[in-house]
Amino acid sequence: MFSEIFVQGILASLFAGLVTGVGGFMIFLKKKYSEENINFMLNLAAGVMLSASFFALLVPAMQKITEFSPDIHVAGFWYCGAVFVGVLLIWLLNTILPHEHNNMGQHGMHFSLKKAWLFIIAITLHKLPEGLAVGVAYSAEDFMNPDSLVLGIALHNIPEGLTIAISLVAAHYSKLKAALTSLLIGMVQPVGALIGLLTMDFSDKIVPLGMAMAGGTLLFVVINEILPETYGMKKTEKSAFAVFAGFIFMTYLTMVLGE
Ligand SMILES: [Zn+2]
Repeated sequence: MFSEIFVQGILASLFAGLVTGVGGFMIFLKKKYSEENINFMLNLAAGVMLSASFFALLVPAMQKITEFSPDIHVAGFWYCGAVFVGVLLIWLLNTILPHEHNNMGQHGMHFSLKKAWLFIIAITLHKLPEGLAVGVAYSAEDFMNPDSLVLGIALHNIPEGLTIAISLVAAHYSKLKAALTSLLIGMVQPVGALIGLLTMDFSDKIVPLGMAMAGGTLLFVVINEILPETYGMKKTEKSAFAVFAGFIFMTYLTMVLGE
């Protein structure tokens, strides 16, 4: 009933999605997280997502949109428009989402549930075009090499899965709930791949636009929510170190696996 390529694409994206859960369960590697640990990890996560938004989303999207457009100005318009729409959407979501009141009697710095979820929504949204890309890669093999794409996405899902778990633990979720949420969010990728496989006639043009939008979304959350929060701790050098460590690690992964 389904072609071999279809089954391959679904299985590959399912595998990549499940790896997100592996990252999520890595939250159990350490028994207890102090406020400073969480701060460090959030910064690390910010660096990971900064790199992911540039090198896994914004740059490849720019190249693809330029290829598709007859004119560089048209390409620029579509590309910047998509990034802007991404930022606008998450900004709107940020204003619509209720501001919670800290009535649980917690003391000290407390990464709010709203911030955690905004970050997670942005990560979740960017997994859709990533999944789409996998589907498209399988259905039109000249678009991208599906094997290296899947491996790249799968491996970069590890730090992303951990990122999801970290932000939930920072918002006082239990480790198990955090890890399971991250596994669940990983499943957005096979859904994206399914859409990509079913709509391959036009989705190769949608993917780069979705990637550009997702890049803008992630950047907004990192710049507007994560960094101001962690830099509030005043230990800016330590924070910067963590951001750069995450950034360089993810950039290395993206570069090596993109080959
Ligand atoms: Zn990603």
